[in-house]
Amino acid sequence: MARIALKDLRHSYVADPAGEADWALKRMDVEWADGGAYALLGPSGCGKTTLLNIISGLLIPSEGRVWFGDRDVTDDPPDHRNIAQVFQFPVVYDTMTVYENLAFPLRNRGMEKALVDTRVRQIAAMLDLEATLGRRASGLTADGKQKISLGRGLVRSDVNVIMFDEPLTVIDPHLKWQLRSKLKELHKEVGATMIYVTHDQTEALTFADQVVVMHDGTVVQIGTPVELFERPRHTFVGHFIGSPGMNVLPCTVVDGVPQFGGHPVRTEHPVGTVQPEAALEIGVRPEFVSFAPAGVPVDIVKVSDAGRYRVVETRHAGSAIKLLVMDGQEVPADGACLSFDPAHTQVYADGWMVT
Ligand code: ADP
Ligand code: MG
Repeated sequence: MARIALKDLRHSYVADPAGEADWALKRMDVEWADGGAYALLGPSGCGKTTLLNIISGLLIPSEGRVWFGDRDVTDDPPDHRNIAQVFQFPVVYDTMTVYENLAFPLRNRGMEKALVDTRVRQIAAMLDLEATLGRRASGLTADGKQKISLGRGLVRSDVNVIMFDEPLTVIDPHLKWQLRSKLKELHKEVGATMIYVTHDQTEALTFADQVVVMHDGTVVQIGTPVELFERPRHTFVGHFIGSPGMNVLPCTVVDGVPQFGGHPVRTEHPVGTVQPEAALEIGVRPEFVSFAPAGVPVDIVKVSDAGRYRVVETRHAGSAIKLLVMDGQEVPADGACLSFDPAHTQVYADGWMVT
């Protein structure tokens, strides 16, 4: 087990990268604490698999170093890194039984027969595979095979990191829900560093203690689910996480006070200096917007019922602003005004939070 550090990392699939767009991963430094439960979250194409393959050694980065503890492993092949990787689609030996599939990574490292047996049965129990241990893998459904892949990833207790690359893609929705919570328990039992790659915020927030959010080849924020919710460092984090996502509204700043559509908006702290040419925006989540006697005047566009609350979509000066209205609270018929909770209203310059 080891802390993993990516230093001055950058990667391009192009031989002669010219512009920013040629870099699949833009320059980054990321540390993964020993034993942490991480999710790597971002939309398709943002560089998640590239990053994972650099950690596992399937890819050598164009620039920068990969450290496992005090060892520089950048040029080491995957089988010298002591890692386990579970891919999007099942990787199993069809002709072997489920038992043999699970035992393989252990036998391969010369583990004693009795210990292999104990461990295989433990993992099979965790994944509800006990009943199928004697069956050939070829006879199982895609779900069953992917559970074997997960088991093979989890079976060794001495790995530096276990990486899952969108492992629940082929799993049906009901089982997906079960496995998602199971993986969280398994992390507690196994104790190894785990990196779970997904484009699904629910999967990421269920599994991880720390979420690493990627956008366009850049790590935009690393934080707990609460931090990502309460203080998104980048507007992308604000609208990608949350349902509905954060409102992002164009603004100007006059004497440290943001103005939206000609109306001053209070923030907890005065806004510091910003580059004169930066694109300025206010970010406030629908949870922290409410109807008020005075404030930003809006038109009501749409009210949708979401169970315990309603999502109200309003409009002011060409911008849509959503807010949540709890059961029992009124939606004004006309003359509605909004106020934003200053403690949860942030200003962003070129997408980044102004601190
Ligand atoms: P993700 O896993 O987040 O969907 P990837 O890491 O697979 O993203 O891809 C990041 C970017 O790198 C994308 O623009 C993708 O098209 C590009 N890319 C990925 N793999 C290769 C490859 N083998 N050759 C060229 N470009 C690639
Ligand atoms: Mg991928």
